[in-house]
Amino acid sequence: QLYRKAYYNGSATELSQLPEDQGYEVAFAGRSNAGKSSAINCITEISALARTSKTPGRTQMINFFSFDDERALVDLPGYGYAKVPEKMKLKWQHTLAQYLETRQCLRGMMLMMDIRHPLKPFDIQMLTWANQADLPVHILLTKSDKLKKGAGKQSLLSVRNELKKLSLNASVQLFSSLNKSGKEEATQKLDDWFEV
Ligand code: GDP
Repeated sequence: QLYRKAYYNGSATELSQLPEDQGYEVAFAGRSNAGKSSAINCITEISALARTSKTPGRTQMINFFSFDDERALVDLPGYGYAKVPEKMKLKWQHTLAQYLETRQCLRGMMLMMDIRHPLKPFDIQMLTWANQADLPVHILLTKSDKLKKGAGKQSLLSVRNELKKLSLNASVQLFSSLNKSGKEEATQKLDDWFEV
């Protein structure tokens, strides 16, 4: 299985530091605490990976986790949770937007949102940039185990509705790293993007 082969393959803080623009990349994004690390762990079945991305100092970096020579998961940290000056935040936003806009090998973006706190300004920003760049977005409504089945379904529908109202384009699913529900659906989306 491809995703179990993931290994840490470097970080970049600036566009000039990115590896060569070749092969396939899928970006993972989410606000701090959205459950992104847990989702990456769940999908790759490697718990050490997420820890790597949480190493202090790497919080404002683009982290690369490669599966093979051609395919990589790109971990985009949420800005704003570290106490950084406004000027740095703006620079970081610019870097992220540029990356999404210019990166040719980027096939899609997985956006993690806590099912209880969906579509916050950060999420809207990422969706807007991705839509502008014609980049497909797939949303994981994480921690779905926190809600009862009916409530989870209701949230799924209401997020889809909200996206429509905002004219934002993305597919959406329920996901739980805790009980691995939604893992197959998420993996299927990755397979499509990576052409596995
Ligand atoms: P990140 O900051 O986006 O990388 O978020 P983490 O993956 O570190 O998760 C943040 C918190 O949410 C941690 O306390 C996790 O244990 C918890 N969490 C993550 N995924 C799930 C899930 O699927 N179910 C539940 N119940 N808790 C989760």
